[in-house]
Amino acid sequence: KTITADDIRTSVKEENVQFLRLMFTDINGIIKNVEVPVSQLEKVLANKMAFDGSSIDGFVRIEESDMLLFPDFNTWLLFPWENDHGKVARLICSVHRMDGTPFEGDPRNNLVRVIQDMKDDGYSAFNIGPEPEFFLFKLDENGEPSMQLNDKGSYFDFAPLDMGENCRRDIVLELEKMGFEVEASHHEVAPGQHEIDFRYTDALDAADHIQTFKLVVKTIARKHGLYATFMPKPLHGINGSGMHINMSLFKGEKNFFYDPETDTQLSDSAMHFLAGLLAHARALTAINNPTVNSYKRLVPGFEAPVYIAWSGTNRSPLIRVPLARGLGTRLELRSVDPTANPYLAIAAILEAGLDGIENKLTPEEAVDRNIYRMQDSERKANHIQDLPSTLHNAIKALEDDPVVKAALGPHLYQSFKDSKDLEWAAYRQSVSEWERDQYLELY
Ligand code: GLN
Ligand code: MG
Ligand code: MG
Ligand code: MG
Repeated sequence: KTITADDIRTSVKEENVQFLRLMFTDINGIIKNVEVPVSQLEKVLANKMAFDGSSIDGFVRIEESDMLLFPDFNTWLLFPWENDHGKVARLICSVHRMDGTPFEGDPRNNLVRVIQDMKDDGYSAFNIGPEPEFFLFKLDENGEPSMQLNDKGSYFDFAPLDMGENCRRDIVLELEKMGFEVEASHHEVAPGQHEIDFRYTDALDAADHIQTFKLVVKTIARKHGLYATFMPKPLHGINGSGMHINMSLFKGEKNFFYDPETDTQLSDSAMHFLAGLLAHARALTAINNPTVNSYKRLVPGFEAPVYIAWSGTNRSPLIRVPLARGLGTRLELRSVDPTANPYLAIAAILEAGLDGIENKLTPEEAVDRNIYRMQDSERKANHIQDLPSTLHNAIKALEDDPVVKAALGPHLYQSFKDSKDLEWAAYRQSVSEWERDQYLELY
């Protein structure tokens, strides 16, 4: 797929596009966008759109604030929803310095760098199929999100229990109009919780898709009087929202994780890659679960992983190997949640796995029993470690992991760590309802 500047000019004319939205992603995974009228098209296409980088989290200091947006023409997309002012199209951009060099603090540029390194090593693609989950809450009379769920449905339920179904269908239809290949969409286990899975694409497209997906879900939910949140654990006592990441590594047209000759039909490289994910699991958690709230999800009893182990059959572990073989052979990392910056997460996951291949790491044996029912001593005997239990512990693990740090590069690592240190410091100082309930009258 290669879209040229001329294709874009034609599309603007034929579709009567009036506004261009230039999108990029900050360190926290938040989509930023600058909207410009179509009169600026030539400037946009010539990489001449400047913006003030100092106002973006994790970018640059005031004194070097001007930055340029270089649009990736292949991300040209018309938003399908109607608008009184004509159509809006978007381009995902990478951030460059005024001298034209790519800015290393841009998460998307970093993923491009990591993918290029992978290609230099002889692989053709790192394919990613995400399974994002989210909650739908009702909007109140002022249009603000309430904590009222939209339905009482449960896993794979049908209407009328699943009132979010219409909204979810609308989301799927809009996504399809935008070129997404939606593989499945269903109600999740918790009331008001939904999941939409899209077909795997290469790493960069997948990260772009995840960002666009969140925007579409939130936009369409509002049209239904609902608020969509990707917060990992909005309500205690019920499941949280994850974003399982299915992944495979390709060499040419071949899935490098598949080998019909072995007992399991998994290649040796798949096992090394898996071992790399396990070896770096603690540091990866900082990136894949980057908010204080992420750790409220990673607790026993809610189908989210807590321990560092893998399995072919069992759904409780960190990594599962789905039964599909051939081109569909893949690993499923189940810890990731939708607050992860997809550009950072995918870069870190890829580097962790490739480190496993390079160093021919081998995983501990698969754990096909329920890890949650094991005694501590049994887990110890089986060398099963915990995932970090707090953001603070995860950041410490990241500090100690040169491979995952290198996956971010020094600039992004530092701004990520600074941002997370601040978040943790603010959280530590807060006093919660739970604490007052426990201690106020007891002491
Ligand atoms: N919501 C669960 C999580 O937090 C996953 C549930 C599922 O997809 N089986 O990861
Ligand atoms: Mg799923
Ligand atoms: Mg799910
Ligand atoms: Mg899954």
